[in-house]
Amino acid sequence: MNVIDVRNLTKRFGDRTVVDHVTMTVEEGEIVGFLGPNGSGKTTTIRIMCGLLTPDEGEGTVFGFDIRKDELKIKREVGYMTQRFSFYEDLTIEENLQFVARLYQLKPVAKQVADTLEDLGLTSRKNQLAGTLSGGWKQRLALAACIMHKPKLLLLDEPTAGVDPKARREFWDEIHRLAGGGLTVLVSTHYMDEAERCHRISYISYGKMLATGTVEEVVRNAGLTTFVVHGPRLENVANELRKKPGVDQVAPFGATLHVVGSDEKALKAALADVEKEHKGVTVEPGETSLEDVFIQFMSGSKDNMG
Ligand code: ADP
Repeated sequence: MNVIDVRNLTKRFGDRTVVDHVTMTVEEGEIVGFLGPNGSGKTTTIRIMCGLLTPDEGEGTVFGFDIRKDELKIKREVGYMTQRFSFYEDLTIEENLQFVARLYQLKPVAKQVADTLEDLGLTSRKNQLAGTLSGGWKQRLALAACIMHKPKLLLLDEPTAGVDPKARREFWDEIHRLAGGGLTVLVSTHYMDEAERCHRISYISYGKMLATGTVEEVVRNAGLTTFVVHGPRLENVANELRKKPGVDQVAPFGATLHVVGSDEKALKAALADVEKEHKGVTVEPGETSLEDVFIQFMSGSKDNMG
């Protein structure tokens, strides 16, 4: 069953189209990653899905409810965590959650709060002031606050921005645990390792959906070829390669160069040239990574903000 099923969503602010005919489905229990440069329309799309914004064009449903007409029904089923979650810093974790429980009219408050604290491993810190928590714990509190009313869909907008790698990993373990329990998750992120932890990903740029599928499918469909170059004085080799036709990306990786192109024949010719001209330089086939694919998508397009 599709939890999210939206077609041709379009949103304009003034004369700028920030979401441009976006079509997307998310199945029950799936964790779908929403990727794309800053300002590409992820937040706006997520807000349309949870009924906070009305699209100018397009239609869709969330749990079968119409995104244009049934916002209230949708909101009840959705937990939405924004990029900049905020708490009462001078209240404890427990007090913050009590506030949320009352907001959603959850009863009995004490039990609901205790269950949520326990569920997210926050019980031992329940008396700590929210303002004194580290980024990772703040984020855990934010997640607790947005799953407290037992939503069936989580819409997470860059939930791990600015959080250290260990806390990010724990957060993702938590997301997988929740998805295992039947929750569906759409999560926007900038981090490649997080994209790789999603069942599927969708990549959006300038409001347009450029790719969607499993990480493997997105990499395969990008049609890129990658080689790894070994040898001495690779800075010179890199500079030469960058000028040659067929070479789209040259990136140093440790003591090697990672060279990527979409025209395999031209790329091979360019690499054969440098192999011939530079003593000791060798070239071997490499694997295209998700990061290579995203950099290819982004090349030529700067930040979309503005
Ligand atoms: P992302 O989440 O991918 O960073 P957003 O959806 O936040 O992208 O923004 C897409 C574009 O729409 C940006 O250029 C942003 O400045 C613009 N935008 C977002 N909200 C508004 C608004 N309320 N009014 C005008 N422009 C907006």
